Amino acid sequence: MSVKVCKFGGTSMADGNVIKGVQKIIESDTQRKYVIVSAPGKRYSGDTKVTDLLYNCFAELKESGSCKNSFAAVRARFVSIVKELNIPFEIDALLDETEALIEREKSEDFTASRGEYLCARIVAAVLDAKFIDAEDVIYFKEDGNFDGEKSYKAISAAVTGAKRAVFPGFYGKGTDGKVKTFSRGGSDISGSVVARAVNATVYENWTDVSGFLACDPRIVDSPVRIKTISYKELRELSYMGANVLHSDSIFPLRKANIPIHIKNTFRPEDAGTAILPSIRYTPSGNLVTGVAGKKNFTVIFIEKSHMNAEVGFICKVLNVLADEEIPVEHIPSGIDTMSLVVESCNLPKAKLEKILENIKAAVAPDIIRVIEDIALIATVGHGMSSSVGTSARLFNAIASANINIKMIDQGSSEINIIVGVKNDDYEKCIRAIYCEFFK
Ligand code: ASP
Repeated sequence: MSVKVCKFGGTSMADGNVIKGVQKIIESDTQRKYVIVSAPGKRYSGDTKVTDLLYNCFAELKESGSCKNSFAAVRARFVSIVKELNIPFEIDALLDETEALIEREKSEDFTASRGEYLCARIVAAVLDAKFIDAEDVIYFKEDGNFDGEKSYKAISAAVTGAKRAVFPGFYGKGTDGKVKTFSRGGSDISGSVVARAVNATVYENWTDVSGFLACDPRIVDSPVRIKTISYKELRELSYMGANVLHSDSIFPLRKANIPIHIKNTFRPEDAGTAILPSIRYTPSGNLVTGVAGKKNFTVIFIEKSHMNAEVGFICKVLNVLADEEIPVEHIPSGIDTMSLVVESCNLPKAKLEKILENIKAAVAPDIIRVIEDIALIATVGHGMSSSVGTSARLFNAIASANINIKMIDQGSSEINIIVGVKNDDYEKCIRAIYCEFFK
């Protein structure tokens, strides 16, 4: 039998009336058996997400030993949700208990996780479904990474016999027995984990948008909606900043080939975007699926004659960065040149200077230069590699917009061409690429 796992994001939980809409969506389809919820998000622009209110609680707790003042705002949100839902639910007692536990546990992760916990308790009551606490079924390993094997087993045991079940997203339990969260936006990952554990037919991720757009709507007016996209394309685009879905959500699903469907809670009839594993994916015929990018990278350019003949050259350079725990995003290289592309936020001035000195000491380059304020733009699509002239069109479009390309990296994935341009040219470059391939 088909089974759907549905994750509802923060805006889908924002208030009691929106949750009533969610109830309708779930109850309209008997296949929608397993539900994962985020903490209530913003009700209007300028509002504060419950998770952020909880981080305030922890800050107050650390400062003063109590979270009383900040918790009042969390309390008000949940009390009004239950009131709007008009269900019999002992919210005051649950909130008192939660506040006391936050003060007792004194843990940032535990505090932050309570938005999802409380929300899932309420939604389980609304749906008359089984509440399954994430800390009993989602586990992390000693090194902090998610423990798939243990979690999948625990989840499938916990759902046995339940007609419908609700899980809080965002957290699980560490090997120390304490609550531990994924990174921000991590309820998407919790949804993937549950989908994998129950071998879902589809993982529906309900948001406040009707799917992925081919590029950032703040840069291009009403960009086209992507109907289908492969896991790989999505990973490339979301890594580069297209953020509808947490970029780690795909990993649990990949082996099981489970499709993800992005849907809009506020327009459930819209088709949304289907994210498909390669074996189910037929490219749409468009050369390019989407364009995304990020500003503020630093490029360290290194030149040395006969670099290619010097065994271990790249390794020595990379070790310098590894010693300082600096992640490197890209390493475009030539015969005698290599560039290291690093997010500028990871390279404060003193660290950068130290790294330059250490590289000089390690490999004695002829030239070493730093180029700052670089934006990276990824043009992604399965159609690109099989079609002659795609890069020519891309570079022509950028040249016609009078933009100087500082760096090119056509990674080995063949579905992604990355260009580096000046931060100031970022928006113009995205527009030029979009116009070339979509207009
Ligand atoms: N509530 C958490 C956050 O705001 C997790 C999530 O929404 O997925 O990051």
